[in-house]
Amino acid sequence: MTDLLSAARPIAAESSFYNAVLTRRVDQHGSLAFFWVAYTGTPVDFQPGQYLTIGVESNGKLVQRPYSVASSPREVADGYEFYVRLVDGGLFTPLLWQLEVGQGMSMKGPKGKFVLEPDDDRIHVFISSGTGIAPFISMMKTLLVDGAPRRAVILHGVSYAEDLGYRDLLEAWQASGGYPVTYVPTVSRPAAPDNAGWTGRTGRVETIINDAYDDLGLTTDGSIAYICGNPDMILAVEETLQGRGFPEEQIKKELYWPKGKAPTAAPRIPAGVDPAAPQQ
Ligand SMILES: Cc1cc2nc3c(=O)[nH]c(=O)nc-3n(C[C@H](O)[C@H](O)[C@H](O)COP(=O)(O)OP(=O)(O)OC[C@H]3O[C@@H](n4cnc5c(N)ncnc54)[C@H](O)[C@@H]3O)c2cc1C
Repeated sequence: MTDLLSAARPIAAESSFYNAVLTRRVDQHGSLAFFWVAYTGTPVDFQPGQYLTIGVESNGKLVQRPYSVASSPREVADGYEFYVRLVDGGLFTPLLWQLEVGQGMSMKGPKGKFVLEPDDDRIHVFISSGTGIAPFISMMKTLLVDGAPRRAVILHGVSYAEDLGYRDLLEAWQASGGYPVTYVPTVSRPAAPDNAGWTGRTGRVETIINDAYDDLGLTTDGSIAYICGNPDMILAVEETLQGRGFPEEQIKKELYWPKGKAPTAAPRIPAGVDPAAPQQ
């Protein structure tokens, strides 16, 4: 369906909206990928945790969505890195998936208040589902470059082990001490054949919060929580942390979409219709 939708919605090669270019793309697998987009003019500065809005022109309209920047503002040579999931039936991501390096794009921003507190020496507990890990990678990379890494715990929930973006980097940091981080990935479908051999934690990330906090000795005095991704996960984690006595100001949140919202209904193409044929 995604291929049909993309064929039915052509992407403009050139557009007055474009001020940026796709410089690099790495596919993690069919529905998760890393994209690097650079301004054709002067780059903008941003704070780790902020987002940029990227888009392309299709059928004369700019189709665009916000994405957390995963790279550090200290490394903009290839452009800004984004970590994106393909949403079946989504309006923008099926277009994004069709892009090849060199494609013109629109990019705006930065925006967002999901940024680090200044001079905070508490343990930073970064909690995310899926691509919600992106802003935490930007934060940690930046703290590292600045020579001031803050002790961190990363709790990352996905359905399948192959969805664990940045796993190699985080495992390497943890093993070498290159960044003082404890990496706690969890998969929610341990019985699935694709998760055969998984020996780590299981269950959605919101269901392991109490155990992880107990095991790691994370206290209200000594830690601050940053939560990003799926809104249902965020609200569940927040409730658990409040139950453990964490005040609101020690729980920072970035919701990737409003609670209860399903993907925007995309135009359905009847069987047998050639989407590339001229419209009647
Ligand atoms: C501040 C902010 C930062 C964001 N950063 C990222 C990011 O770094 N990476 C990223 O992949 N997305 C991110 N998003 C979500 C992104 O903006 C789009 O909503 C998403 O890519 C879907 O766009 P679409 O047009 O294909 O789907 P739409 O037609 O807009 O449908 C949106 C619906 O798709 C579903 N959806 C949205 N995002 C996801 C997802 N990641 N996984 C599963 N279902 C989803 C939800 O049901 C949502 O209501 C961010 C959103 C916000 C508000």
